[in-house]
Amino acid sequence: MTRRRSAIGNWKMNGLTANLSDVDQIAAAAAQATCGTGLCLPATLLHVARGRVTMPLGGQDCHASESGAHTGDISAGMLADAGASMVIVGHCERHADHGETNEIVAAKSGAAWNAGLTAILCIGETETQYHTGQTRDVLADQIAGSLPEGANADNTIIAYEPVWAIGTGRTPGIGEIAQTHAFIRSRLPDPSLSILYGGSVNASNAAGIFALADVDGGLVGGASLTAEKFVPIIKALEATS
Ligand code: PEP
Repeated sequence: MTRRRSAIGNWKMNGLTANLSDVDQIAAAAAQATCGTGLCLPATLLHVARGRVTMPLGGQDCHASESGAHTGDISAGMLADAGASMVIVGHCERHADHGETNEIVAAKSGAAWNAGLTAILCIGETETQYHTGQTRDVLADQIAGSLPEGANADNTIIAYEPVWAIGTGRTPGIGEIAQTHAFIRSRLPDPSLSILYGGSVNASNAAGIFALADVDGGLVGGASLTAEKFVPIIKALEATS
């Protein structure tokens, strides 16, 4: 089975209705693209963006429950209702800001599946873990603890995001990314799952990263916020597909 290749943007807590023109421009490029695309927008923009564009849209987190007394949270079903087809779970900023554990992330993945969403499951080591040679152990632990049984290429995308590479302008070496992705694939219950690389991807480094055998695209933060920066990354993925 050919693995799905995608360039997916994560807008994090950025974006007002004034920024929807960038969504429009990114969507225009996505409509022409031969690879998969997606934009994980702030929940406040999802429904209005859905009314403007046809490209896949996603949320950035969901609660593990379908509904209930969880003030300020959002369910996977609500994201689907607003027009999302995917949702990020387990982003390291959720671990840091909200104390999420592997167990919570696994429950969120299951909630995403139940709502018909593809879960984009983030895994990645901290800088200390990287420097002390724990990367593989950490990743194996995260895969075992946060990927529920039943994951397949339709309902799950893995995003390898070294925590220390997010928003820093630093990335692991190309050889390291290649080896780490191969390791992750060897630990997946279904090797046909897509594995995206995330962490300071930009128009200059995208082509080299996307050309690696076990890299199926990118999860892109800062460089997905404008069409000017994100469209060249989509094109880099197309060129290496
Ligand atoms: C992210 O937060 O998912 C991410 C990859 O961020 P950036 O591209 O800004 O490093």
